[in-house]
Amino acid sequence: MHFTLGDVRVDLVLDMDVFPLPAARIMPGRDLGELLPHRALLEPDHMDFARGDLLLGMQALLLRLPGLTVLVDTCVGEHKERPAHPHWHRRAASGFLDALGVPPEAVDVVLCTHLHADHVGWNTRLRDGRWVPTFPRARYLVGRRELQYWQARAAAEPGVSHGAFADSVQPLLDAGVVDAVADGYELAPGLTLKPLPGHTVGQMGLWLERAGARAIFCGDAIHSPVQILRPDWSSAFCTDPEEAAETRRTLLHCAAEDGTVLVPAHFRRCGCTRIRREGEDFRPLFGPG
Ligand SMILES: [Zn+2]
Repeated sequence: MHFTLGDVRVDLVLDMDVFPLPAARIMPGRDLGELLPHRALLEPDHMDFARGDLLLGMQALLLRLPGLTVLVDTCVGEHKERPAHPHWHRRAASGFLDALGVPPEAVDVVLCTHLHADHVGWNTRLRDGRWVPTFPRARYLVGRRELQYWQARAAAEPGVSHGAFADSVQPLLDAGVVDAVADGYELAPGLTLKPLPGHTVGQMGLWLERAGARAIFCGDAIHSPVQILRPDWSSAFCTDPEEAAETRRTLLHCAAEDGTVLVPAHFRRCGCTRIRREGEDFRPLFGPG
């Protein structure tokens, strides 16, 4: 599946489809019954009402523009020890690198919007018992605040975030391939990193403004279309749920206002959406338009 934004081709690269998350776990205390009027919008791709599950895609986004190939978020990966997550534990033969459509050497930049375990997995792969960068020519970009936060956490608690810092970030730091970037960092003309705080302390989004197109690769500021219908429903995994909701509302207002396409990390099938304002509410219009 791919779509085009200006002069940028965006491919959805599947690592795992589908990842079901019980709504009672990701959004405890919320009444899914409120969403039943939107059932036709949410099923079958984004929700399973009968089971009470949100359906997320574990997928990276490969951006190809003239002279630059960028991979946004690297999913779960293979051979990682994730005993608390049976779906993620010691995976093999996922087919991810074949699905990428370009050789790993062709990736110039890897952007991790944030450092949760489902966004850094393919940063590294196992070679002769060691974790090495999967994309050998790439610079890996991480927001400076995000990196500092997780470095401090990992120093106090080495297994933090299911061990993802230890096996998927620290080996990159050791290899000297990480750029800890500040707000406003420009990857290329019309591709700029800006903060999207709340889900994590230092989550960064990628703002695209090129060849007449406007889009925001917004990571986990929006996990599911459910959060477009209910912007206040932050996830149980958010560091600061209030701030996450504020960030989300700002994104939705902006997208409804000027037609900006939102590209969240986990939207299955369509991969992106435009936003329509309906009174006080928002609705997704799936696809780039
Ligand atoms: Zn995520």
